[in-house]
Amino acid sequence: MRRIHHWLDGRLSEGVSGATGPVFNPATGEQAAEVAYGGQAEVDAAVGSALAAFERWRDSSIGTRQGVMFAFRELVAARRRELAEAITAEHGKTIDDALGEVQRGLEVVEFACNIGHLLKGDYSDQVSSGVDTFTIRQPLGVVAGITPFNFPVMVPMWMFPIAIASGNTFILKPSEKDPSASVLLAEMLTEAGLPDGVFNVVHGSRDAVEALIAHPGVSAISFVGSTPVARHIYETGTRNGKRVQALGGAKNHMIVLPDADIELAADAAVSAGYGSAGERCMAISAVVGIGKAGDELVEATAARIEKLSVGPGDQPGVEMGPLVTREHMERVRSYIEAGVSQGARLVADGRDLVVPGYEGGFFVGPTLFDRVTPDMTIYQDEIFGPVLSTVRMDHFEEAIDLINRNPYGNGTAVFTNDGGAARKFQREIQVGMVGINVPIPVPLSYYSFGGWKDSIFGSHAIYGPEGVHFYTRQKVVISRWADPVHRGVDLGFPTHG
Ligand code: NAD
Repeated sequence: MRRIHHWLDGRLSEGVSGATGPVFNPATGEQAAEVAYGGQAEVDAAVGSALAAFERWRDSSIGTRQGVMFAFRELVAARRRELAEAITAEHGKTIDDALGEVQRGLEVVEFACNIGHLLKGDYSDQVSSGVDTFTIRQPLGVVAGITPFNFPVMVPMWMFPIAIASGNTFILKPSEKDPSASVLLAEMLTEAGLPDGVFNVVHGSRDAVEALIAHPGVSAISFVGSTPVARHIYETGTRNGKRVQALGGAKNHMIVLPDADIELAADAAVSAGYGSAGERCMAISAVVGIGKAGDELVEATAARIEKLSVGPGDQPGVEMGPLVTREHMERVRSYIEAGVSQGARLVADGRDLVVPGYEGGFFVGPTLFDRVTPDMTIYQDEIFGPVLSTVRMDHFEEAIDLINRNPYGNGTAVFTNDGGAARKFQREIQVGMVGINVPIPVPLSYYSFGGWKDSIFGSHAIYGPEGVHFYTRQKVVISRWADPVHRGVDLGFPTHG
């Protein structure tokens, strides 16, 4: 059985505990590898290595750090197919989708190639007689990233390029469900010239996470995953004196107004609802049809679902792959059963899908519900599968209110041809990322990514300018050099005469 190792101090490490967990090929349902599970000992080793490396890395020039990012960018671009194949083999998403994920991660690396621009401080001349004031931004130290299964390349790359380019050293705890890509990234960083210890990978699950969020040598934690774990990481990490940004789950709504281009809206609902089998934090899971838009949309969506090709992600022509694990497949199926028993109308049922030759795979076909009401569990919970719920409402304001009452606030979209309605939506909606005739509004690398409400804990969104602020702290320097004025002892508070 292939063994996936930790990456400590610039090389592969078996770790000391000997514990492992299984990694599956979701398309066949067979175990493909085992991954080392780290705990306190492996985290201690990673922190020790990262602390030692920090002493040198913090003093490296901005140009040196940018140079490593440039070289890493070239390696990732050249080996994107290899990364995509590693993602598909363990996550299940299609190769095209995996290539898209690598591309979005790469954009953050490109952003980090110009980090010097964002590390600039302010300068005020002569704030007092012979006194100048300026700010500098300095790295925090050892920072850790704990990441989810659904983007095993992109989400770590939301974090470490900016953290490392800003002068920090980094420990990644990737998802135990698809850990191989993180080791490929570590190898590429080393090949790009990153000194040993600046980037480390500790695999595992809860034990590794608990050790990281309690470790006194770790200054900050970036987390992306489900809301209950995000809340726990935020509360525990901050209690332990760390800076924490913890991005959680989602329940993304898309409102379709009667004046919308229904064909455009149906394309968007199907793409954003079933892309990556619904395993995206920006997936649309509830479509709110206003008035006559409801009937038209359900009909147009159902027609598109019939044509979707579901199968192994590495096969040409496949549009939707399997779910990540058997447990997750069973969970998604149980939600479909709950929807039926609670009275929603099942328009397309993905439960009995069988992919010939891949009978053991973790497949659920695209599933569409109509007449879903807010009291149903399929409306309330994040299903994280290919299950789209249609909610019917008479008025736009009711739909805005529904979204604003939802505890999640990651992404949302409105489809309309009315500029006034779109503007009302963008101003009133209590959600962090908003699409107008765009179903998956993921900000580019030079903006920052983050939801509102239970979709994020902590004050900083991830990557972009907010990422730079998260991974650095500001220092203000007040200096007097020329012609010091000797005023003698003065116990009064300094003023600026
Ligand atoms: P998850 O919360 O189960 O796991 C995330 C990470 O936390 C993994 O590394 C895992 O090993 C670790 N973990 C899991 N349970 C833990 C526990 N009890 N204690 C400590 N650590 C634990 O999430 P997932 O299933 O891997 O990913 C899917 C979730 O991530 C969805 O809820 C999705 O919406 C969310 N997500 C959010 C964003 C965002 O930007 N807001 C992006 C991607 C995914």
